[in-house]
Amino acid sequence: MNPDPPSPPAEGAVPATGQWRRWRRWRPWVAPAFALLMLALPVLPVPDFWITQSIYIGMAALVGLGLVLLTGVAGLTSFGQAAFVGLGAYTAAKLSLAWGAAPLLTLAAGVALAVVAALLLGAITLRMSGHYLPLATIAWGLALNYTMANLDWLGKYDGLLGIPPLVLFGFDLGDGRALHVLVWAIALLAALAVTRLLDSRAGRALRAVNGAAVMAEAMGISTFGAKMTAFVMAAVLAAVSGWLFAYFQGTVNPSPFALAKGIEYLFMAVLGGVGQVWGAFLGAAVVRVVADQLQVLLPRLLGSSGNYEIIVFGIVLVSVLKYAPEGLWSFVARRWPAPPRGRDWACAPPLPLRPKPARGEALLEVAAARKAFGGLVAVNDVSFEVRAGDIVALIGPNGAGKSTTFNLVTGVLSLTRGGVRLRGREIGGLGSRRIARLGLSRTFQHVKLVPEMTVLENVALGGHGRTRAGALRAMLRLDRAEERRLFAEAERQLARIGMAAQMHLPAGNLALGPQRLLEIARALASDPLLLLLDEPAAGLRLQEKQALAAVLRQLRSEGVSLLLVEHDMDFVMGLADRVVVMEFGTLLMQGTPAEVQASPAVRAAYLGTEH
Ligand code: ADP
Ligand code: MG
Repeated sequence: MNPDPPSPPAEGAVPATGQWRRWRRWRPWVAPAFALLMLALPVLPVPDFWITQSIYIGMAALVGLGLVLLTGVAGLTSFGQAAFVGLGAYTAAKLSLAWGAAPLLTLAAGVALAVVAALLLGAITLRMSGHYLPLATIAWGLALNYTMANLDWLGKYDGLLGIPPLVLFGFDLGDGRALHVLVWAIALLAALAVTRLLDSRAGRALRAVNGAAVMAEAMGISTFGAKMTAFVMAAVLAAVSGWLFAYFQGTVNPSPFALAKGIEYLFMAVLGGVGQVWGAFLGAAVVRVVADQLQVLLPRLLGSSGNYEIIVFGIVLVSVLKYAPEGLWSFVARRWPAPPRGRDWACAPPLPLRPKPARGEALLEVAAARKAFGGLVAVNDVSFEVRAGDIVALIGPNGAGKSTTFNLVTGVLSLTRGGVRLRGREIGGLGSRRIARLGLSRTFQHVKLVPEMTVLENVALGGHGRTRAGALRAMLRLDRAEERRLFAEAERQLARIGMAAQMHLPAGNLALGPQRLLEIARALASDPLLLLLDEPAAGLRLQEKQALAAVLRQLRSEGVSLLLVEHDMDFVMGLADRVVVMEFGTLLMQGTPAEVQASPAVRAAYLGTEH
């Protein structure tokens, strides 16, 4: 028996005080009030100096919003955003100077170029793990800057001068105060779009990519696609910022788009709270204002000129990473947490179901499956089948090859030889995302969920393959009908396993037992043909095991087909219709629980090693 692990607190993070209730009432008005203030700033008695500062802050926040998605949410670090800003700025400058192109045209061209560059860069680097993307973005930042600085037709180090003032729909935005309105309108719209994106199917996929990629793929999510979405979005936001920059300055040259600037954007985002939409604004504002003061103050203090503020920023960055790794905005977010999503899906029609096989029909056939790791044959020509409505348990001592078999079936590992068929269709070698979409859904021996997402949102990940809406639809809020259907399905699956009451808690607050049940609900949300459970009882306390067994018995009575890998023989015996026993990679025997229990060979091999 395992010692009881300490259970984390199960209550939510929401204070139930009068202060909270008051906050709740006026919270929806905070963002609109802020937006109104920023848009009205030019007509208020604010000095020109601060209007200019505010324009720079708005443009930097636009780049920062891209980093929120890319670095904060998807966990991909980019030092090269300044290069995308440069791409947008130079495109605007060159096209308007050479051909007198209209601003909307230069915007479209800059955005298109950024998309193409991001797709190319992403295609090369996003499939690779770890450090390749940051390195590639550095290379990209350096290369593009070098190009800008050395091409004659881009004016070399002097850049391009005399860009005509911005005129849009007959409005002359050449004056800083008028441009302020445009910059902030775009930045605020981008904030709205990113907020909506994060609260959508595509946004949840993005949140799952960072740290739970294997799980995401097993839920039918293309992690590559999600990363690419973030990378392209970030490039587009940066290019738009560059477009504004070109018209605002009236001139472009390579230095504002150098690698150092790319690092500064990242610094702003991290300082503000990378991963938080309003952190992008806070970080941009703090860096802009403080840098400006320091540029005056420090040389005076130190008695010589130079960019000393860089040193201060270095120290601040290290302190922030040490003492407030979630950035400055996290202090605000902690004090005024967002209220849970309103339950607006009660009447949503159910998502469509897949056609299910009749009871007893062949569902999964594992045919002489083999997996060799170098010289070690972990799975040695193992064959068995699961029929619709069956509960099959795959048991065996540690190291018998159960998990490897499981991973062969689910597509996490590729077969060395042999085959796996789902309803007669060969699925060996398809990859876990394709297999998941065909109707095999799984849980993990080591629970994999997105701890800061709610229980409900985690379960909704399971329904990813049954829904369609992409990032664009989410940003335009055209995905709400589908979202309601998905959340209704997620709640239904949670209710099915008795966890509806916890749906609004962060999943990371749950104890291990409920987390395992959450994984089952998540798998069920994909409407699977076959549910695969990898050691569902491992590490559970007695009551948790009993709760799990009750849920599995209920699923059996509902006709769900189950294949479970289990180490704990007793757990399986009361539950399974058939038991497959493995030892040293080979199939020792299969039969009913009674036959397996009576077999001397199993006793010797399995129980012998256990007790
Ligand atoms: P079980 O799940 O039954 O405990 P596994 O399938 O995890 O067993 O492992 C079967 C055998 O294959 C073990 O000897 C294990 O060390 C080996 N094995 C598993 N995964 C790998 C791997 N990725 N590389 C090399 N050997 C592995
Ligand atoms: Mg195992």
